[in-house]
Amino acid sequence: MLILVDQDGVLADFELGFQVAWKATGHPHPVVPLDARRSFRLREEYPVALREQVEAIYHGVDFYKNLQPVDGAIHAINDLMELGHDVRICTSPLSFYKYCVPEKYEWVERHLGYAFIQRMIVTKDKTLVNGDFLIDDKPEVTGVWSPTWTHIIYDQPYNRQVEGKRLTWQSWRNVLLVA
Ligand SMILES: [Mg+2]
Repeated sequence: MLILVDQDGVLADFELGFQVAWKATGHPHPVVPLDARRSFRLREEYPVALREQVEAIYHGVDFYKNLQPVDGAIHAINDLMELGHDVRICTSPLSFYKYCVPEKYEWVERHLGYAFIQRMIVTKDKTLVNGDFLIDDKPEVTGVWSPTWTHIIYDQPYNRQVEGKRLTWQSWRNVLLVA
């Protein structure tokens, strides 16, 4: 199977990275815990007046590079490859790409090895990419084409309003290998 895997919120722990960085600023507005998140876009969980400060965290240098892997993610990717699946990372960069794009590559090299950067697909429209499955935490992944892949939702509190097949790196074998 050709399996497309999203990067942020699926492989790289964007949420944790943001929380740590926000707390480090000492800002009086409390960090919104993951379980309280209802919107896919993190910035929408904070007052509009704080938007610039929120964005400054993930627009900043070294933010993407230093994200921790999501629990079990690296192990699962290596297992999928060992099972003979063709795994590609399919990620949509921020429009503010300056640090995000190169640091996404650095992250992959650091955690999956240099050869894995050949498997990076960086696109704003994932429907243009072919595959059997797309594992993505975004509740609905849309674009100009009707996708060839089936979206499997990477379970997060902010996507539970959407019906559909879902998994985590703790449950993927039960979902993906019988899909
Ligand atoms: Mg994501």
